[in-house]
Amino acid sequence: LAFVTLVTTDSYCMGATVVARSLRRHGTTRRIVVMVTPNVSEHSRFTLENMFDEVITVDVMDSKDRLHLSLLGRPELGITFTKIHCWTLTQYSKCVFLDADTLVSPLNIHVLPSREWIPWFKLHSSFDPSSKAMFLEKTYRYCTNHLHAGGDQGLLNSFFNSWPVADISKHLPFVYNLSASSLYSYLPAFQQFGHNAKIVHFVGAVKPWSSHRDDSSSPTMEGFVSLWWREYLSHTTSSAP
Ligand code: UDP
Ligand code: MN
Repeated sequence: LAFVTLVTTDSYCMGATVVARSLRRHGTTRRIVVMVTPNVSEHSRFTLENMFDEVITVDVMDSKDRLHLSLLGRPELGITFTKIHCWTLTQYSKCVFLDADTLVSPLNIHVLPSREWIPWFKLHSSFDPSSKAMFLEKTYRYCTNHLHAGGDQGLLNSFFNSWPVADISKHLPFVYNLSASSLYSYLPAFQQFGHNAKIVHFVGAVKPWSSHRDDSSSPTMEGFVSLWWREYLSHTTSSAP
């Protein structure tokens, strides 16, 4: 099993740094892997090489779905299709993909490896990741024919369209993807369960690295933003225990 993240721009490299550091702090014994696109600067790549067990170069996959992306107000997210490469990392038995804007809390996430997973390619006999080029081409074609929300989330919603109602036991509890953006309808749950957060996700256009440390729309979230900064500025980057 490997933990995998993605960096297509230098700024998200800061985020990935925190993903790696927080996983290490957590004491994981699993491989920590980052996929990077060729445009990422040499300096950022070097930083990542020092922090991750493996840095894998992948081609950019862009949904080019300008219409839906502009509805979302996030034109930059077409490239999240690049995450699809994660399914080609067949050298690992399982991959846990984490966005680069996540922070792993020191709480137990060991439960993750024991979960049951549905590999994408098992759902579709013609999706054979052992033929990588064909897999990517077919997946890309599927994606561009099934655009619903511009980025990878729309793709997943479309491919796993029974997900919201079927296989509820395979869903991860929301503390594994606790959104640290202040959606008002979410705040009560956040207040009640936030302290159980296992993985905090800084969803939205404003990321911890693009805001000031004390820049936060709500006092509840503030804690997580400062936690992110503390992790970013920490120097405990040595290998896993
Ligand atoms: N990403 C990236 N460069 C970009 C935009 C996105 O590397 O310019 C990657 C990164 O891993 C990021 C993920 O794609 O975490 C999804 O984008 P983002 O987290 O910004 O989306 P949100 O969680 O805000 O919907
Ligand atoms: Mn994200």
